[in-house]
Amino acid sequence: MEETRELFNEDAYLKEFDARVLSCETDKKGYALILDQTAFYPEGGGQPYDQGRLNDVFVKEVHRKDGQIIHYTDTPLETGSIVHGVIDFERRFDLMQQHSGEHVFSGLVHKYFGYDNIGFHLGEEEVVLDFSGPLDPKQVKFLEEKTNEAFQKNTAVKVFYPSREELDVLDYRSKKELSGKIRIVSIEDCDTCACCGTHVRQIGEVALAKVLSLNNKRGNARIAVLFGKRAVNYVMKVMEEADQISVALSKNPTQIYDGVKHLQEEYFNKCQQLNLLYTNYFEKKYEEAENCDLYVTFEEGCSMDTLRHFADRMSDKAKVTAGLLKKSENEYQYVILSKSVNVREKAKAFNEALGGKGGGDVTMVQGFVHAGKEAIEETLRTLFQS
Ligand SMILES: [Zn+2]
Repeated sequence: MEETRELFNEDAYLKEFDARVLSCETDKKGYALILDQTAFYPEGGGQPYDQGRLNDVFVKEVHRKDGQIIHYTDTPLETGSIVHGVIDFERRFDLMQQHSGEHVFSGLVHKYFGYDNIGFHLGEEEVVLDFSGPLDPKQVKFLEEKTNEAFQKNTAVKVFYPSREELDVLDYRSKKELSGKIRIVSIEDCDTCACCGTHVRQIGEVALAKVLSLNNKRGNARIAVLFGKRAVNYVMKVMEEADQISVALSKNPTQIYDGVKHLQEEYFNKCQQLNLLYTNYFEKKYEEAENCDLYVTFEEGCSMDTLRHFADRMSDKAKVTAGLLKKSENEYQYVILSKSVNVREKAKAFNEALGGKGGGDVTMVQGFVHAGKEAIEETLRTLFQS
């Protein structure tokens, strides 16, 4: 069996090529095509496969099997014919940026903290990395800065195949025990790692790293990060949001946190003022109320907590207290409270009569009803006023 010549290993920037179709067989994924040579990268080392076209046929997946590379399509191509291949280089270059960026970041984690990369998922949205030890936010910030510094230094990404003797003395990262010809990818001052993926020529082509999140689980750190154009797009999106906030706050984008803090304080003060107003308002209502069988009050604007608190206080004067908080013209949130009447017993009839939902215990029921003021009041009087 002839091994496929892997053109992506000779030149990671090769976008087009010609090849001979060695076989084209049907398979559960469609047509499985084997060529004598290819620039399509098959899935491997954490890097997803390339997509693109062979003549005008879409290549949807590419995998490696027994030294051969299989291209999956929905249309057959004639065995023996020469085909022209074009890879989707925008997709590939993005994957190269993510993969080379990952090497720098993981290499620096190893260099500064001694942890191994134990997981690498290059997803559609973000790159997720797992490390064999915990990291704190300050350390991650440091790593992000060092990664970006490495991009600015723009050193060459070297790919080579050392001999056994050279490998014995080479200090390199590797995720598994390797056999056969070992391919090493090396970035000066950052990383030396065994890898089969495609990489940028100069590390500056990655341009930017932006860490999105850090999670420490069972002693391991999980980091979500973006590189290259993905990181640039993310920063631009965040800046757009920051610009809008800065206009709303009339603050410079670098001062929006101060602006938001100020708004929070103002909001907190207003809430306190409002609470005081409601406390006085309900106190007055309590003082004016007389002893009765049923006390009903319709309110608007206050919190349910405040209304519940008032209803509770009113149970000194009324056998049953119903507090109704307006949500919209025909929707009220309710609380019905009593120290002497079993309110749970009547809650079902109350809900049924008014298209409501809710429940509670014998002393207090809460819920929502969909009805107007008069219907609610009438139902309450029928149920609770003897
Ligand atoms: Zn790699």
